[in-house]
Amino acid sequence: MTGTTQNNEPDSTVYKALLESTKAIPWKLDWSTMRFAYIGPQIERLLGWSQSSWATSQDWVDRMHPDDKEWVAAYCISKSKDGVDHEADYRALTKDGRYVWIRDVVHVIRDKNGEVESLVGFMFDISERKETEEKLITLQKKLEEFSFKDGLTGVANRRMFDSIMEVEWLNARRNYQPLSVLMLDIDYFKQYNDHYGHIQGDDCLKRVAQVLSAAARRSRDFCARFGGEEFVLVLPETDEDDAKKVAERCHQLIFKAQILHAKSEVSQILTVSIGVGTVIPQTDEGALTFIHEVDRRLYQAKQKGRNCVVSSH
Ligand code: GH3
Ligand code: MG
Ligand code: MG
Repeated sequence: MTGTTQNNEPDSTVYKALLESTKAIPWKLDWSTMRFAYIGPQIERLLGWSQSSWATSQDWVDRMHPDDKEWVAAYCISKSKDGVDHEADYRALTKDGRYVWIRDVVHVIRDKNGEVESLVGFMFDISERKETEEKLITLQKKLEEFSFKDGLTGVANRRMFDSIMEVEWLNARRNYQPLSVLMLDIDYFKQYNDHYGHIQGDDCLKRVAQVLSAAARRSRDFCARFGGEEFVLVLPETDEDDAKKVAERCHQLIFKAQILHAKSEVSQILTVSIGVGTVIPQTDEGALTFIHEVDRRLYQAKQKGRNCVVSSH
């Protein structure tokens, strides 16, 4: 029978046929000469380089992404020297200049004295898996981004505000710098929704968010949607007079946006009420109490008739 020896062991033609019919690419490297004793013909289909062009381990290193070359070669040599089976993922260069992600799984063969004789292995095309991994990483990043971003207006959300506030509070305390916060709430927004509908209400919130972001001009100034139709500006290293100026600028810019609000009881265009607070933190605690105080001033601005600013003086 062809293909088998008498004791039913497959002969080399069977091994060859099996090795060359797999998707994985088999290879063998002679350790003393570092020359390829064998590489499967499938290599040409995957990378474009002909089977006969793989002569030495240097060909293998040369056809690797510059960022992978050094560590992959060093890692494989050191593992092989120690006689330890190993694997490595790297980008292999194709003949037309692209890169394909490969997982090389290496088995170390020793002679009867225990010396390394050769390396045999399989190269697997893992580009699809890598692509999936990269997509997952991108999605993960997006998720992180979204979890700090308000979905409607695109400005930071309440969670981000809490984090920023914590950082700026400690920073202001450490540097004995004033930290100011503005809380802003749209006047008669319930009536706006009732009159113009929720979709236009949503558009209005987006515009207000843009306007308020533009009002906070310094690089560490920070704008977030606190919730509903309430926004907050954090102004580091800003004293109360300057914070009041930013509040004035908010009023001017909102006025300039000329968002019609026919049902408002204070004006024919949309307005906001603002509470302003400034603190030089003395302890690590106290941010929450401070925010409550600013919120109380916002409430006072509503009581005073809306479309105005309340600060400590
Ligand atoms: P005041 O001047 O006292 O602030 O009155 P107001 O009507 O603005 O205050 P109130 O808190 O009674 O109403 C807030 C409204 O904001 C009610 C709610 O439907 C609306 N709102 C909150 N979040 C959203 C949103 O995401 N989209 C829309 N369209 N409306 C929202
Ligand atoms: Mg309101
Ligand atoms: Mg409100």
